[in-house]
Amino acid sequence: MRGIKSISILASALLVLTSLAISSVQSAYGAEALPQYQVYIVHYGTSDSYPMPYLMYLASAEKNVPMDWAFWVIKGDDRVIVVDTGCNEQMAKQWNVKGWVRSDHAIKKLGLKPEDVTDVILTHLHWDHANNGNIEYFPNATIWMQKSELAFAATEGGQNPQARIGILKEDVLRLVRYNWEGRVQLIDGSAEIYPGITCYLFPRTHTFGSQAIAVNTASGTVVVASDLVYRFENIEKMTGIGTGLDMYECYKALVAVTKMASSKDLIVPGHDLSVYERWPTPGGGIAEVK
Ligand SMILES: [Zn+2]
Repeated sequence: MRGIKSISILASALLVLTSLAISSVQSAYGAEALPQYQVYIVHYGTSDSYPMPYLMYLASAEKNVPMDWAFWVIKGDDRVIVVDTGCNEQMAKQWNVKGWVRSDHAIKKLGLKPEDVTDVILTHLHWDHANNGNIEYFPNATIWMQKSELAFAATEGGQNPQARIGILKEDVLRLVRYNWEGRVQLIDGSAEIYPGITCYLFPRTHTFGSQAIAVNTASGTVVVASDLVYRFENIEKMTGIGTGLDMYECYKALVAVTKMASSKDLIVPGHDLSVYERWPTPGGGIAEVK
């Protein structure tokens, strides 16, 4: 059994994440030596109308919008990384997610089998991201997540219904069990987990320990922002998401991901259906970010 390992914070320079002047994690590898990956958005369902005030801070409720439900795949020469794992059928029904597809089935559109997946990164523990995170779907995967996200959910979150909104008890218990079994790599801060793939912690934002993933690609640094950026509109208007623990930290996360990505056009939002127009290939519910 693999030992439980915490990934320590790499360099002091990255500790400015909570300030507006974010510095990137210094790669341990030279820029030329960094491997390049492909980043795909994988659609797993749609909602016809979602409350805009959840998505944009202080937005008008008259502007409710259709919403995408998606997770992401990072593909390299020797790694297949699934970022978040969608939700299960029960939650899809409860939330009226139309056209729901289970994550291990959805990746078949990329020609991938569940056993090809080497790693699962969880951006946060909300049900639409971690509820389908059953590692039995991906039997060879190591699970990566922020230590603070799991610690909060397993301790204070369990005692505070307000703080744990969107987090399900069974997901937390399953991840605690996986951690005891040595299947979880806990990231403590921000760290380059593989050459060219860096997880950045944004504490007390959308959740207690949400993270974004910066990925080296042929187009530059792509940032899978997950729910730190719900829609392109959050970035275009520099207006924070509507749901979070600390709205100012949510705003600072927008500023930070804008600096992390090679361009604003390479920031991948968590729930925007127009991603399939911006990145129309290969199509069929899959978008390659480039
Ligand atoms: Zn979400």
